[in-house]
Amino acid sequence: MVFHEYAHIIDGHIDYYTNKGICKLFEVQPEYHVPSYDPIFRQTIELLADDFAIFGCIRFLHHIQLGTFPVNPLLKSYFNDWKSALQFWYLPIYTFFRLFGHCNQPYLVKTAYHPIPAMRSYLVLESIDYFLDSDFNIPEHEEISMSCIASMFKIEDAFDKVSEQGRDLKPLKYSLTDEAISYAKTLIDKRNDVGSLLKKYSPVN
Ligand SMILES: [Zn+2]
Repeated sequence: MVFHEYAHIIDGHIDYYTNKGICKLFEVQPEYHVPSYDPIFRQTIELLADDFAIFGCIRFLHHIQLGTFPVNPLLKSYFNDWKSALQFWYLPIYTFFRLFGHCNQPYLVKTAYHPIPAMRSYLVLESIDYFLDSDFNIPEHEEISMSCIASMFKIEDAFDKVSEQGRDLKPLKYSLTDEAISYAKTLIDKRNDVGSLLKKYSPVN
């Protein structure tokens, strides 16, 4: 989630919102105007940010395996190989999107500012496969990325159990602390200063 928000800063999405919808995404069309309330365009931006985050995380997973990024010793065994690391990492991602499963309504594709969660969790899998293949040159990338399916089954099982107990997850809402909001505001205000520092996490440098 942190990498996702970084993408909104370094890819100029925040500038786009604050500068009357002048889109800086497509460098070949610097004057391209898109209303900032255009849902389809905003969903595209969210998917770009997801892609950035996935790449950043996969790079971390790679460094953990190489021993060049520290990990809590209690969790180390989960990160010994790609299959296990990805299953472990995908578990909270799928859970997060699944918690918002009630947003998987077809009409929201045309109106919401975020893509429907089912689409996002599916595209995470596709992006993992793409990055493993093209950036990490892993021959068995397909089999490895499919190992995330095991995490999906685990989560679906847990959701079944919650439903069997007659609980309803629909009223679940975000709640942001004042501290988090003020941190986000600072980051956004200083986006021009921090943008270049965050760029090293980007799949496109
Ligand atoms: Zn976003």
